[in-house]
Amino acid sequence: MDWTVEAIERLRALWAEGHSTAEIGRRMGISKNAVVGKAHRLNLPARPSPIRRDANGEALPRPQPVRTPRPAGVVPRLTLPQVAPSPAPVLAPVAVPPPAPVVRSFPRFSPARACCWPIGEPGQPGFRFCAAEALTGKPYCPEHAAVAYVKARDRREDAA
Ligand SMILES: [Zn+2]
Repeated sequence: MDWTVEAIERLRALWAEGHSTAEIGRRMGISKNAVVGKAHRLNLPARPSPIRRDANGEALPRPQPVRTPRPAGVVPRLTLPQVAPSPAPVLAPVAVPPPAPVVRSFPRFSPARACCWPIGEPGQPGFRFCAAEALTGKPYCPEHAAVAYVKARDRREDAA
């Protein structure tokens, strides 16, 4: 390619008009590479490529910050309360008496003849059985057997 002054001016003009290097070469009867090489040597301003033109031509909409809709009536908890929450009020322990064990039957004592006279109130601490040696054929020791039969006799007398 013999770059005459006219050719160079033609190149500059076509270049300025924004033709593609291929189009310029076609109009000037030279190769695209010749156009590109000469334009480079002439320090012609680089033209934005079609891709760049598209990128710059249309301003992309700036992404809007996503705002999550706030449910009405809900106060956003942005900050935690500075004051440490007071501990839950310690409720005075209500003395709930444990249910008294229902004594359905007096336990059997390993010595078969242990006095099963109850001492104390059933279900209360300290309640126990006498556990002394019972009289033969009696569920109580002599002492308690006397009490038991006295009471039985009193009850009979009261009933009569
Ligand atoms: Zn006894």
